[in-house]
Amino acid sequence: MKINKNLAALPAGYLFAEVAKRVKTFSAENPDARILRLGIGDVTRPLAPAVVAALKKAADEMGTPEGFHGYSPDFGYDWLIDAIIAGDYAPRGVEIARDEVFVSDGAKSDVGNLQELFGPDAQIAVTDPVYPVYVDSNAMAGRLGDYVNGKWTNLTYLPCNAENGFVPPLPEKRVDVVYLCYPNNPTGTVLTKEQLQVFVDWALENDALIVYDAAYKAFISDDAIPRSIYEVPGAKKCAIECCSFSKTAGFTGTRCAYTVVPGEVTYDGVRLNRLWGRRQATKFNGVSYLTQRAAQAVYSPEGQKQILETIAYYRENARVILAGLKKAGILAFGGVHSPYVWMKTPEGMPSWDFFDLLLKKAQVVGTPGEGFGPAGEGYFRLTAFNTLENTRAAVERIVSVL
Ligand code: PLP
Repeated sequence: MKINKNLAALPAGYLFAEVAKRVKTFSAENPDARILRLGIGDVTRPLAPAVVAALKKAADEMGTPEGFHGYSPDFGYDWLIDAIIAGDYAPRGVEIARDEVFVSDGAKSDVGNLQELFGPDAQIAVTDPVYPVYVDSNAMAGRLGDYVNGKWTNLTYLPCNAENGFVPPLPEKRVDVVYLCYPNNPTGTVLTKEQLQVFVDWALENDALIVYDAAYKAFISDDAIPRSIYEVPGAKKCAIECCSFSKTAGFTGTRCAYTVVPGEVTYDGVRLNRLWGRRQATKFNGVSYLTQRAAQAVYSPEGQKQILETIAYYRENARVILAGLKKAGILAFGGVHSPYVWMKTPEGMPSWDFFDLLLKKAQVVGTPGEGFGPAGEGYFRLTAFNTLENTRAAVERIVSVL
């Protein structure tokens, strides 16, 4: 049997494993230390009561002959798709048709699987730093060349840093697909409509596709900032959008997401909507009835009120982090329309050195920026997903160390 050499050549999942290793070593040497974690990328608040009620009701229905449901439709129940369109798109003036929405078990699966629609030699670009799934899934398919000194030889990196205001430059060479994620993980920054328009115009002119990851859109608190790329004219011809209930409604352990592939998005004379439908129908057997009922409850009036309260809780944590860093004279970004704060390390310290310093002196864990890509070096990610109490305590310690 010949193995997939591209998969075997992937660098080890180094970042969070290395973080865990260093924390474990420190804990073993300092058993009394109370470590506070601002590296958490997972939500921590419980599911909204409206969602729990919907789950229980659906479970009861499943135990009756009339209410039992077997395989769900491959692309999701119409009642959930209608709720998504009415809740997430219609209020923003975006028209999306039922057959353009594909319900799934996660944005991670979708952004990882979408590359199956691209030719083997499609040229890929990502912003740098970046959520690693876009890179690794294309590397597994053999599109990125070799991994040399922390970079893929055949991947276009669009560096985002304090100097360019975290606005990615357009690719300078021929690129077929650009992955954009806003609000961004890890930088927590957003793009305005005008800034997104530049990418949409470029994609239309260059016959390129944008894969837009909007997993954190629920954190946007300013109506002027687009929650969907389809708020930008022309995007329905050149963009696929991936959304998730994970960060919107605490579904990281419940698993539900959706991807929009507009009917007009066409390359090589083929509609990507048809290709994605074909791919999903073959390899994916739908999201459970219970989960889809739970996701539908997110859009009920009580559900909306409850999820917004949770997001407000995380937002307050982010505000506390930003305020503390400002007090310590540290440059920090994001954290307003996002649960992520992206700070500059003091005096340009390498991000792993800063990780060690914070762990030893403050017993606080964050995530070194270098782990998200070469342009992340010199930066550090803190997250708003801990409790308010722990966030306050962690920030006090960070400020005193700095
Ligand atoms: N996209 C981004 C940018 C993320 O940061 C994450 C999770 O951290 C995901 C997608 C995963 O979403 P899901 O839980 O729906 O798979």
